[in-house]
Amino acid sequence: MPLNQRPSGMCKTARIVIFQKPQPLAICLECGAPYGTLEAITHGCRTPTPTGRCEGEVAARWNDDDWTACPSCDSTGCPGCGDVGWLAVPY
Ligand SMILES: [Zn+2]
Ligand SMILES: [Zn+2]
Repeated sequence: MPLNQRPSGMCKTARIVIFQKPQPLAICLECGAPYGTLEAITHGCRTPTPTGRCEGEVAARWNDDDWTACPSCDSTGCPGCGDVGWLAVPY
């Protein structure tokens, strides 16, 4: 079914979803940087820091309840969430 022919009627589905960012798949345990690929788990974190780069361990977090959509931008990306669109749920 084409996207523009989805049944509508419920207010919650009226929001535009095509600009939402994909949920991250992994996160750095050190600095909290999100990663959208599983390669980061192998390579480790590469977030630049004032002293070089973060070398924290990156762990897989791909469950739906590991992330919550940024309330400011509804997971479309904004400065508040670092343009990620998702906030990690604390352990
Ligand atoms: Zn890191
Ligand atoms: Zn946001």
